[in-house]
Amino acid sequence: MKTQSDLYRELPSVDELLRDPPIAKLVEEEGQPAVTDACRALLSRLRVEIAAGALDERKLSLALSGIEAALKTELRRALGYSLRPVINGTGVILHTNLGRAPLAESTFDHIRETAGAYSNLEFDLESGERGKRDVHVDPLFRKLLSEQGRAGMPAVPESQNNLGGTGVPARAEISTIVVNNNAAAVLLALNTLAEAGEVIVSRGELVEIGGSFRIPDVMAKSGAVLREVGTTNRTRIGDYERAINERTRLLLRVHRSNFEITGFAEQPSIAELVALAQKHKLPLMEDLGSGALFDLRTIGINDEPGVLESLRSGVHVVTCSGDKLLGGPQAGLISGREDLVKKMRANSLFRALRVDKLTYAALEATLLAYVKRDYNAIPVLRMMQTSKQEITKRAVTVQKNIQAGESTRSTRIELIDGESLTGGGSAPSALLPTTLLSITCEQLSANELATRLRSSDPPVIARVEEGSVLLDLRTVFPEQDNVLTQILVRNATVWKR
Ligand SMILES: *Cc1c(COP(=O)(O)O)cnc(C)c1O
Repeated sequence: MKTQSDLYRELPSVDELLRDPPIAKLVEEEGQPAVTDACRALLSRLRVEIAAGALDERKLSLALSGIEAALKTELRRALGYSLRPVINGTGVILHTNLGRAPLAESTFDHIRETAGAYSNLEFDLESGERGKRDVHVDPLFRKLLSEQGRAGMPAVPESQNNLGGTGVPARAEISTIVVNNNAAAVLLALNTLAEAGEVIVSRGELVEIGGSFRIPDVMAKSGAVLREVGTTNRTRIGDYERAINERTRLLLRVHRSNFEITGFAEQPSIAELVALAQKHKLPLMEDLGSGALFDLRTIGINDEPGVLESLRSGVHVVTCSGDKLLGGPQAGLISGREDLVKKMRANSLFRALRVDKLTYAALEATLLAYVKRDYNAIPVLRMMQTSKQEITKRAVTVQKNIQAGESTRSTRIELIDGESLTGGGSAPSALLPTTLLSITCEQLSANELATRLRSSDPPVIARVEEGSVLLDLRTVFPEQDNVLTQILVRNATVWKR
């Protein structure tokens, strides 16, 4: 029987380990410092176990014979990325916790070619002088925010739109700047237009968006004073009008992105707010949250206002996110009357909130897909437009391929009707009909099963409802169907045991 000090003496030194041929090979692959660290970590774990009396001679020699595999695991842990791709089986298209909008293929190419090299980010190639970074997307927005730039939008004769003679500029004068996210956009806009003055907002719109974006808090940080009017459920145009005084700088409308007020509820129309703003020569801003540049009515979503509608109805400044229904990178977009946007561009906060070349590259590529009307190139739009029929077909195939393996006898996979969500603070009531894979397993609770799927590689994120694990293929890329099937089969084999 060996004593503890005998066992300590059995442990190799770090140098001995590094000279061991298979480990020397690891050094070649991963570099000496990382492998040395991993060896130290492993040896010190073994020392702790010896000290605790958890290792006898047999167990120690077993541990030492498996040291190469243990080192590999340790290295994977130490050198692997923390940010990893996952399979989104939740059916929530804009899942804030899962990175909101997946980017279009064209964005990767554009990022690769511009970010891995020098670029004309702030350089005017014509004059050879310093340029501005926003020139790369402003013209695209101008195009998209004109009547012609928008698919499915009926052309509105100039005489019928609200822009004529109201002091609101033609679309050619609408400019757009980009900041880090919509929270930053709202902060910059409020600070620029209303610092030390009052901003009138309905009590029904003092919203909180996930991740602690709260209108009253952002307002306070911007240096503007919040002037609440109306009540939670009912606010009338007269409430706004009575609150206007010489300190008023802005009327603000906030889109209720993630909830609805139904029942005994009232809210002035945008047209009424526009008229009131005009009458008192005040700017009207709308925080849209989710900036749709695509006419969602074509896919049956009628209650989600688009950026163009808002500007067309006479709103002076619109703010929205780049990674919600637009389907681009995280960004905050401020579109509106040129003179107002110009002031925001001149604000030193704009410098602090500006975005990197990666974001410009991704945004430019996304917007270009809109200009080309290539909506299928944008994953978010593609997922929203996928028919239930198509999803059912894929679900049937997945079900069949899983059941082909006899190992799943204790596992039931059924197809049931369900609904996908757009999510991410957009169209709160918009449900897209879908077909779900419902999985139940005799030996495991739904939560245990969901945990197993999360720990697979790549992790699969599922919904758990009423004792079943539910997977919605709407948010799974079709090219992931096979991997998903394999993961389900692999886990099914384990379940049976
Ligand atoms: C989502 C949302 C925000 C926050 O946007 P981020 O891009 O996440 O900062 C602000 N206002 C509204 C109305 C929203 O829907």
